[in-house]
Amino acid sequence: MTTLDRPHLYLGGEWVSPASTETIAVENPATEQVLAHVPAGTAEDVDRAVAAARAAFDGWAALSFSSRAEFLGRLHAALSSRAAEIARTVGLELGAPLKIAKAVQAGLPLAVLRSYADSAASEDRVVGNSLIVHEPVGVVGAITPWNYPLHQVVAKVAAALAAGCTVVLKPSELTPLVAFLLVDAAEEAGLPPGVLNVVTGTGPVVGAAIAGHPDVDMVSFTGSTATGRAISHAAADRVAKVALELGGKSANIILEDADLVRAVKVGVGNAFLNSGQTCTAWTRMLVHRSHYDEAVSLAAKTAGGYTLGDPFDEATRLGPLVSRAQRERVLGFIDRASARLVAGGSSSPVPDQGYFVAPTVFADVDPASELAQEEIFGPVLSIIPFSSDDEAVAIANNSKYGLAGGVWGSDERALAVARRLRTGQVDVNGGAFNPLAPFGGYKQSGVGRELGEFGLAEFQQVKAIQR
Ligand code: NAD
Repeated sequence: MTTLDRPHLYLGGEWVSPASTETIAVENPATEQVLAHVPAGTAEDVDRAVAAARAAFDGWAALSFSSRAEFLGRLHAALSSRAAEIARTVGLELGAPLKIAKAVQAGLPLAVLRSYADSAASEDRVVGNSLIVHEPVGVVGAITPWNYPLHQVVAKVAAALAAGCTVVLKPSELTPLVAFLLVDAAEEAGLPPGVLNVVTGTGPVVGAAIAGHPDVDMVSFTGSTATGRAISHAAADRVAKVALELGGKSANIILEDADLVRAVKVGVGNAFLNSGQTCTAWTRMLVHRSHYDEAVSLAAKTAGGYTLGDPFDEATRLGPLVSRAQRERVLGFIDRASARLVAGGSSSPVPDQGYFVAPTVFADVDPASELAQEEIFGPVLSIIPFSSDDEAVAIANNSKYGLAGGVWGSDERALAVARRLRTGQVDVNGGAFNPLAPFGGYKQSGVGRELGEFGLAEFQQVKAIQR
């Protein structure tokens, strides 16, 4: 038992005992100590949660859009008052350095929630003799990963609730604690019973029960491509809607007329954000041959300057990876690599305790190799040379993924290259993340979009009424 234990599930507006007494131990990856326990939910718990969400659906869907937005405004206020606790919790369960935990892990979900509290209803449209209206999809099953544990929850829950859907949420078993803070805030905000329900547990038990549940109208999932595929199969049996935010292997293209120093520094920072555990991470740095050697040494120097350590130490830039298994997986990629190691590596010194991997940079990476093709999800950057814009685009698009990317160069030229990338988002010359812009992937990076009005539309049906 620890003081952070959360022994109950949240179903139908109440904290209830789970069907089984089994629990999941949540570990602090910086100390390798057990932090807390949460229920290992079961299919029976999912049944109860879906029934509660179904019972709440008609009433919630019938409210005006602005009434639901008002609830979201109150939820935002209640969650904002917990910002410091959110940052601390994500620091503990994920090992996110405090600075990032405050700015991104707490700041981003609050910005997204605010955007839905402020959003306007989708306008009815007239097409010929038809009135086109937007309606909520129904009961949504939301299944989320551990790398941005509150953001990924809020991106789904806020949009689904705004649209008039009710939700059964299963947060990652590695980082479930921060989701409980959202529930605490929902209670304080007076969200009606059954509108938001939370069942903690493992993917194969609780996640699979949600994905295959006959009364779940839509499954919104963020996580690995392999799990996304399994969820798609499960939902296909009843032709339920799915939205999938999956993996990535994004390219950062540095053209010959780029501001090289800025492009490399920002590029390394992007690749190593959250210890490289970011689906949009620019893990392939593509550099024009005219600046290649300079870029390699600058990237190696930048990586070498990162401080690893205690996430709660203000000087720390890189925390541990989320788990022992994740560290072993990442070290496996590093040890199998046949490219030129210019920084870090598996024998580089790291703190004794915690699942740390040194920031690692490989140069001369073969674009067809495992390093350049597979999502590593750790602090590992691959640098690849190119000779022309066409070649850069071809290398960037030579991926089963299509999530994100960066391009650096003179504005018009960089924009022209950005348009040719087969990815859901591209940042030109360091353009900032926009929480109102559609977020999602091409190819095996996913189906559907999150955030802003596109994210809202994902949770809506359109109906045509002929007159
Ligand atoms: P994961 O797929 O293992 O798990 C994600 C969630 O799915 C967890 O809640 C897990 O319990 C659940 N799950 C696992 N097996 C399941 C099953 N058979 N049925 C239903 N649910 C199941 O992924 P992860 O390890 O938590 O996250 C890392 C991966 O997520 C990376 O590949 C990363 O690229 C991807 N990711 C994508 C985005 C995006 O927006 N595109 C964002 C973050 C992470």
